[in-house]
Amino acid sequence: MTSDVSVTIHGSRGSYPVCGQEFARYGGNTSCVSFRAGQREIILDAGSGIIEHGRQLVKDSFASNRPIHASIFFSHAHFDHLIGLPYFPPVYIPNATLHLFGPRFGSVQSFEETIHNLIRSPYYPVALNEMTALKHFYDIGEVDRVYFLRDRVEPFMVRATHPSEAHLLPDPADVEIEVQCLRGFNHPKSGVNMYRVTAGSKSFVYATDTEGYVHGDRRLAEFSRGADLLIHDAMYTEAHYTSMPAPTQGYGHSTVAIAAELARQAQVSKLCLFHHDPKSTDRDLDAIDDLGKSLFAESFAARDGLTIKL
Ligand SMILES: [Zn+2]
Ligand SMILES: [Zn+2]
Repeated sequence: MTSDVSVTIHGSRGSYPVCGQEFARYGGNTSCVSFRAGQREIILDAGSGIIEHGRQLVKDSFASNRPIHASIFFSHAHFDHLIGLPYFPPVYIPNATLHLFGPRFGSVQSFEETIHNLIRSPYYPVALNEMTALKHFYDIGEVDRVYFLRDRVEPFMVRATHPSEAHLLPDPADVEIEVQCLRGFNHPKSGVNMYRVTAGSKSFVYATDTEGYVHGDRRLAEFSRGADLLIHDAMYTEAHYTSMPAPTQGYGHSTVAIAAELARQAQVSKLCLFHHDPKSTDRDLDAIDDLGKSLFAESFAARDGLTIKL
């Protein structure tokens, strides 16, 4: 199975979608990535990039006569990571099943409530409970592991760090995909979930909307150690980040240098520079791509539609 593992970028922007000639090569959709291992797929974030991907899932489902089971892991609930969900065609397919994983907001609000607060009138005409797909919501944090097991369609979530549940951990031989979560507290105002996704000997880390620390984010470096691919926020140039009178330090995003330093510390094989500023044109992103390669040789700027084999 490990020979057939890949990651596809469906939306590589941050903040808001863009279109036009100067954005044509890298694309203008907001954050969405899918991870595929054999016939299994999971999706990370539901920015505008998820919409076209959802159309493909519906086409494939009709062609194969197999119902859709889509699992989406959300980093957080900012618009650019969520706005594609009400337009994701599978939510209107009656026999589709969606598994939606995301962080609780504070200590009281479930992820389902967070989504419900946005996808309802007067913001959107169709409420969550009027969407015909079957939806399961999960609050996911650092203590949880999600497993996609051989011969089982539904995901299986367990509090893996609690000794009383150790006996629930699946036999590794049955695990097709495992998802681990790391909380990041450096993104306003409620942090983000970062994910490490593993299939066999291959793994990738999705770390968007995160800002580095002095000497690097040690927890994230440990979490990412040895991954085949690290997708890391690289929204800003050094000039954006530090120039007066409006530096972007503290906005919860990283520079190319911060991403490259983390990739070096974590000794990952490849670095994907992600969550592009919507103002960055293709020419700007070519420069970011070059800068990335000068700091970490196996790096590249994310581009909508790009598939990376692990
Ligand atoms: Zn974002
Ligand atoms: Zn954000």
